[in-house]
Parts: sequence; C-alpha cells; structure tokens
Amino acid sequence: MVSVFSPPLHRQRHQFVIDFVKRNKPKKVVDLGCSECGLLQKLKFHREIELLVGVDINGANIKKKMHGLAPMSTDYLQPSFDQLRIELYQGSVTQEDARLRGFDLVTSIELIEHLTLADVERFSKVVFGYMIPVAVIVSTPNFEFNHLFHQPAGFRHSDHKFEWTRAEFKSWALKVCLEYGYEVEFTGVGQAPPGQQDRVGFCSQIGVFRRLEGRQDGNMLSGDDAEDLFSYTLLYSINYPSLHNNNILQRVLVSEVLYWAEKMKRNWIEEKTGERDDTLALCCAEWEGEECLRASKQHMEMEDKPTAACGAEMKNPEEHHESELFWTNGDGQQESRKLHRCVSVPLAVLWSCCPKLSDLSGSLSNLRHILMNDPEVKLSQDGSAVLLNDQEQDLDEEEEARDLEDSGYAVCSVSAETEEDWEKNV
Ligand code: SAM
Repeated sequence: MVSVFSPPLHRQRHQFVIDFVKRNKPKKVVDLGCSECGLLQKLKFHREIELLVGVDINGANIKKKMHGLAPMSTDYLQPSFDQLRIELYQGSVTQEDARLRGFDLVTSIELIEHLTLADVERFSKVVFGYMIPVAVIVSTPNFEFNHLFHQPAGFRHSDHKFEWTRAEFKSWALKVCLEYGYEVEFTGVGQAPPGQQDRVGFCSQIGVFRRLEGRQDGNMLSGDDAEDLFSYTLLYSINYPSLHNNNILQRVLVSEVLYWAEKMKRNWIEEKTGERDDTLALCCAEWEGEECLRASKQHMEMEDKPTAACGAEMKNPEEHHESELFWTNGDGQQESRKLHRCVSVPLAVLWSCCPKLSDLSGSLSNLRHILMNDPEVKLSQDGSAVLLNDQEQDLDEEEEARDLEDSGYAVCSVSAETEEDWEKNV
C-alpha cells in the first residue's frame, strides 16, 4: 500500500511509543512482534531504559537486523553511567516465559491482527494475566478507516486474521481490563482527512493500558506461579558499556588522568626549554583558566625536593639522567637499581583541573585508590602524585641538566621498576 501519511504510518506508531517512553521513563520494555527490530532500534537511544527486549515468532526476521542493536563505537569511547541490556527472543506471544514478567512497558504494534481470535485470548492471558506489566500499548488497524483506501471489504494485509472496528477493539480492551485489573485509554495515529475523523477514527487504533493500583505485579508472584518457565529461545543479548562496570570506569579514569598529566608535563617542559606552545596552556585554560596552570606549577614546585621526596640516596641527579640507588638487603648484601628521572604531577592538581575526574571518581581518595591498582599508572610513594617518565631525556644532556638545576618544578627520581618493591627494599 502506498503511504498516504506523512510521516509514514509505521513511523507515527513508533513515535507514539517513543513519546510515551519519554513521558513515563520505563526501565524495562518489551516489544512483542518486534519483527526486524525497527522500534527497538529507536528505543535503544532512550537511555532511561535499562532492559530492552524483543520477541517475535519469526526468528529469521529478528536475525536480519539484530546486529544493528550492538553498541556503537561512541558507546565504547565515551561510556556513560547509563546501563542498557538488550535481549531478543524467538517465541510466541501465546506462550508464557518467566523472563518477561515484571516489565514497565509492553508494546504490541500491529501484532494482534496476525493472531487467530483464539490466540488473541491466549495473548491477553499471557500479557495481562501473566506478564502483568505496568503499562501496555496495543495498536491494530481500524477497519472503519479502510473505505478511505477504497478497500471497504478487504484487509490491509494478506496475513491479517481480522481487522476490528473501533467498537470491536473497545469491547476486547474493556473485557481485558475487567478480567485482569487494568484501565485503558483509546487513541490512535494516522489522521483522517478534515471532517472525517469522527466518522472513521484513526488509521491505526491504539489502546494504552495501565495496571490498576493494588494489582499484584509480575515480579511479586511466588510459589507455583513463579516457576522458571523458559519457553522462548534467546537469539541475541548484549550489555552496553557502562561506567557502573568497574573495569570500564577504571579505564576511562586512567586515560583521563594520563592525558591531563602528560599535558601538564609537556607544558612545563616546553616552558623550561623555551619551546612552550601556548596552545597547551590554552588547553589547560579551557578547564579552569590560567589559574589551573599556575596552581599546577605551585604544586610542582612543592614537589621539587628530589632526594627528600624519594627518601633515597642518589648519585647527583643533577649530573646524571640515570642514577643508581644502593641499599643493603636482609642478607647484608649490597643491591642496586637504576633510577630514571620522572616528572611528578600532583593528583590534587589534576583533580582541580579536570572536572570529569571528580564526576567519575567522587573523591580524591577514591581516585587514588583506583589508580593505585592500575598497572598503567605510576604513583609517588605517598600516592599523592602521578609520576611520568621524562620523555625529554633524548635532548641534549647538558642542556637538560641545566634545566634541572634551574628547575623550580617537580623532578625527582624513582626506580624504573615498580615503586612498591623499591620502597620495600629501601
Ligand atoms: N511490530 C512491528 C513494527 O512495529 O514494526 C511490526 C509487526 S509485523 C506487522 C507482525 C509481526 O508479528 C511479525 O513479525 C510476525 O512474525 C509477528 N508474529 C505473528 N504471530 C506471532 C506470535 N504468535 N508471537 C510472536 N510474534 C508473532
């Protein structure tokens, strides 16, 4: 049938559901008769939804486009705290499956007219009597509208078992409400031409059902009713990346910390070598203005006590890029380890320069705790600063030694191996 509606009728039906989702913010949504997952594709962007499920009797239909429901690269690159799981099942809406109980919203868009009337009864019992969701949206063709298509007798699709008038739809819906404890509102999409709306109604008629208060919800059933009945076949499931997942949170925090620490380090080095690129200062200024840069310098200055900070005996760090640390082990033998220069960037400075860090970790001590357990990050002994290798070591040595001498900023020496071991041995 040529679309006479703008936007096309199927889009209007989906938009109706999306508007409902925006207003009511359901967390668990299942689309019955999801076909090629068109509605689910749109719903996955509404991240108030935490569990999104599709069911269709035709597994091949589901499989055609189900991979389009996978997270996009931006979902991985910039994960949020939102959580989303998507599941797709092959199964019939005339059969019960315990995994579909306790949902906030069930949608059935242009599905019931594909069922025999006996199966519509089973559908009603499964959806309203077994799944017992908070709300149900049912759409189905309005037979009265058909004569506007010059098809007064025929159905709109060869697989339709019936097409109801508004009165027939109303009669079924009210019976369901009475039997299962719901109330219903009637509406629709696909407006009739001016002057004909009252006479023929909407092209797609819609019933919005809401569970009455006091009606037991699908999650509260116990005993025999709650038996694990899994009659559907799981075809697809995916968890979207979320910052609630500790591994993902840690990965994002670490990359943020390393990015900002590296930026500050380079800024300091460039200033020291007279090669400062002001875009770096500006990058920092983007967050907190020049205050941030100044703050970081002050903090770095405070750290500028190489031997004191490291608490170790070193061979003139001013003269050597690689120093050697000596100590006596438990057996009275001398041991040594090579020390490399590094730049120390205080966590407190990073914290104040990068608001995202506080949003993600909640507190400075949380941040420290998370970083302590990450192999990519080297923290100072007291955990107050991130230590970065001084990449300018390839520069002319004398020039750099001079820089060091003049330096008012934080440069200290730590072991190239893990600081924990070094600390223990000292
Ligand atoms: N809801 C879809 C949408 O909005 O794009 C369109 C639905 S399509 C017109 C009807 C779907 O119902 C088909 O995909 C069909 O396989 C499915 N269907 C028919 N009988 C079913 C049953 N007993 N259980 C589950 N799905 C069924």
